[in-house]
Order: sequence, then structure tokens, then C-alpha cells
Amino acid sequence: MRQILVVQKYGGTSVANIERIKAVVQIIMRTRAAGKNVLVVVSAMAGETNRLLALSKQLSDCPDRREIDLLLSSGERVSSALLSIALRAAGCPAISLTGRQMGLVTDNIHTRARIKHIDTARVKKILKDNHVVVCAGFQGISEDGDVTTLGRGGSDTSAVALAVALNATACEIYTDVKGIYTADPRLVPSARKLDMVSFDEMLEMASLGAGVLHTRCVEFAKNFNMPVCVRSSSDENDPGTRIGKEDPQMEQPVVSGVMVDKNQAKITVKGVPDQPGIAANIFGVLADRSLSVDMIIQNISDEGHTDISFTLPTTCLSEALPLMEKIAKKIKAQEVASDSNIAKVSIVGAGMKSHSGVAARMFKALSRESINLLMISTSEIRVSCVIRKNQAKLAVQALHAEFDLKKDPLQKSKPRKTKPRPIKKKKAMAK
Ligand code: ADP
Ligand code: ASP
Ligand code: MG
Repeated sequence: MRQILVVQKYGGTSVANIERIKAVVQIIMRTRAAGKNVLVVVSAMAGETNRLLALSKQLSDCPDRREIDLLLSSGERVSSALLSIALRAAGCPAISLTGRQMGLVTDNIHTRARIKHIDTARVKKILKDNHVVVCAGFQGISEDGDVTTLGRGGSDTSAVALAVALNATACEIYTDVKGIYTADPRLVPSARKLDMVSFDEMLEMASLGAGVLHTRCVEFAKNFNMPVCVRSSSDENDPGTRIGKEDPQMEQPVVSGVMVDKNQAKITVKGVPDQPGIAANIFGVLADRSLSVDMIIQNISDEGHTDISFTLPTTCLSEALPLMEKIAKKIKAQEVASDSNIAKVSIVGAGMKSHSGVAARMFKALSRESINLLMISTSEIRVSCVIRKNQAKLAVQALHAEFDLKKDPLQKSKPRKTKPRPIKKKKAMAK
């Protein structure tokens, strides 16, 4: 068996059609020709997951989540089988596997399941037999034997989890951009590709809306110190972006990137009695359903009543709202309101730890564009503001310009290597 194992994940655009699948076959075969074993994880062909979801919505406003998982998992089955067929046709031994077949066991929280463990015996056996294993990403199997999925974008997490479980040398995420940029290059054309991003920064970037990586894949990579490389499947010469441990010797940029998340909604429970245990009640019911809440704000109490607002992913709104209506009645709150016309814009940078005034600069830049801040939250290496959705693009562009991100802040001007050459008399004369 070849000693080195590389996990390569190909996103939806990288397997979007027959031509792209054939291009992926070439990358895999070149990796094998370099003496490495390859385990591949694929997403569904571009647009397929959305197509399947739209079909289900034509039949029900709120389709059952167990059925959604079975439906959506078919997208990755198709692409993994097609890639395996293409590899075999090119003379490369390959076997495709579903979530169940690769032994990826999750909890039973349908549509956002978490990986519990991976039984790698079968995968190891296939790799030992010198085959490429092509795994259907995004899916697993619950302990009750039901098909589960890991949440939108979850194939990244399948890839890193398999890389960790198999002790792979590296995990390469092939996508439709050349790496991680200072902002979404679709929103900010002058965004700069970063050569290296620390696990902590990437964790913030991913959870703040840089959809290029699934947040839980970065958690896995960080916890198990698995180096990840994000690169383009249509430009193999570009080394992409490395994601790894922060180098303490290196100066960290104050702001590395600007992120925006337009898939956020805000719920406000108004006129809540200002008493101990009320917040625990509200957030307890959400936690019981594994609904993750992001920012929380409680207003100053007015005559024994207060308002509590929080944000959560838009996809969770229809599930959270009825729960809030119910709890509002129980705790005698006045009303529940929701707003999905919001976006969260954030700046991230490991160097923020040792610099002050960064948040003030962010707020000033946004106010110059007359952007109103609805909520604010910070961490050691991040500042986030909730704003109106229609101002999201303007906000990202303003912040990218304010922090001058198109320039590399750590790039020192290079010293001149040679002395300036004496000007030849003849040429100087000619001028
Ligand atoms: P895949 O289908 O390969 O998983 P995704 O669509 O999930 O690809 O992620 C790639 C997309 O992420 C890019 O096309 C880009 O528009 C978006 N993106 C958002 N923020 C960033 C960022 N900071 N750097 C790079 N890409 C980003
Ligand atoms: N196909 C799934 C999605 O579109 C998973 C993935 O692409 O990672 O979200
Ligand atoms: Mg993705």
C-alpha cells in the first residue's frame, strides 16, 4: 500500500458536468502518479441540492426533515458514482461509497447531523487494495439506521473528518475560487487571495459567512491539527491557501478579511418580565432542538419589562418562531417579532488581539455610508454588526477599502539586491 494518503474534496462546480468530472479524474491520476493514495469526497453536481429542495417545497411548505435527508443525499450518490465510473474508464481502479458504506455515523438530528464516529475498516481495506475511494460527501447514517445530512456545505466536514480518521497527510478542498480571499471575490473584485490563514481566523471567517468552508470542518481541522489547503480545481498551478496553526513568530494582520452573512434572521421577544430564569427558559427550548443562536441582546429594563433579541440562521426561523410564540405565552411576554431582512457584516484578524481602535474604525466607515447598526458583537479577533440586508454589499466594500485589504499589510518593500548600473553615456545622450 502507498504510504501517503491525501484526501481531496471536490465541490459542486468541480463536478458540475461530464467535462469537469473528466478534469477531476486527471488531478486524481496525477496525484496517484506521484505515489500517493487518494480518498475523494464529492459534493452533488452544482445546483442539484437546490433543485431537489425546490421539488420538495412544491409538495409541502415544511417537508419532514428525515425525508429531506434521504432526498438530498441522492445528489452526492450520483456524483460519487459518476466520478468512480469516469476513473475506471480512464484505467484507475475506484470504488464509490455512500455514507453508510463508509461507516460515517452521526447523531439523529436530521438536516444538521453531527458526526459521532467513523468506522474506517471498509475504507482502509479498499485503499489497501490500491483503489481510489470516492465518498459521497454531506451524508452519514444515524445509530437507528436512518440517512442523515450534515447541513448545507457539509461535504467539507465529511472530507476533514475522514482525513482525521484515516490519519491522512493532508486534506485538499478543491473549489471554484483559488483559495481564501480577504472578502468574497464575487462581492469585492479587488479582494486578495491569502497564502496562509490560521485555524482560529478561518473558524471565525467560516462561521461569519465565508461560505467557502463549512464551519465544522474547520473545527475538526483545528482540534486534530489537520492541515487543510483550499485551491482551485481549474488551476492546479496555483498553490491556494494553507490553513494551519498560527505561527507565533509571524506578525499577524490586524484585519485579514471582511465577511458577510445574508442568511441570518432576528427574533425579538418583546415585553419579557425582567426576572431570573427567563433567558434560560427562552434559550433552553432552542438548545433542546439543536437550534444554534448567534448574537443576543437584552434591552435595559423598563418598568420590570425588557426586550430580548437574538439572531439565528434563516433556515431555522420557521422552526424557532412557533417555539418562541409558545414560550412567550408561558412567561407572559407581550409579543414575538421576526425580521429576515438583515445581514451580518464582520471583520476578522488575529492581530486585533494586540491593537485597539479597530471597532471604532469599522463603525466610522459604516456610518460614512449611512449604514445603521442594529446589533454589535465582538470576540478577541472579530467585530460583527447586524445591518439591513440591502446595505450588505456596500458595507463589505466600504470595510475592504477602509482597512486597505487589497494590499498585503505584511509585505515589506524588498531591499535592492544590486547597485544601480551606471548609465551608459551614449543612451543618456540620446535622451
Ligand atoms: P463548493 O461548491 O466548491 O463547495 P462553495 O460555493 O461552497 O463551493 O464555496 C465557494 C464560494 O465561496 C466562492 O465561489 C465564493 O463566492 C464564496 N466565498 C465567500 N467568501 C469567500 C472568501 N472569503 N474567500 C473565497 N471564497 C469566498
Ligand atoms: N450538496 C450539499 C450542499 O449543496 C453539500 C455540499 O455541497 O457540501 O449544501
Ligand atoms: Mg461548499
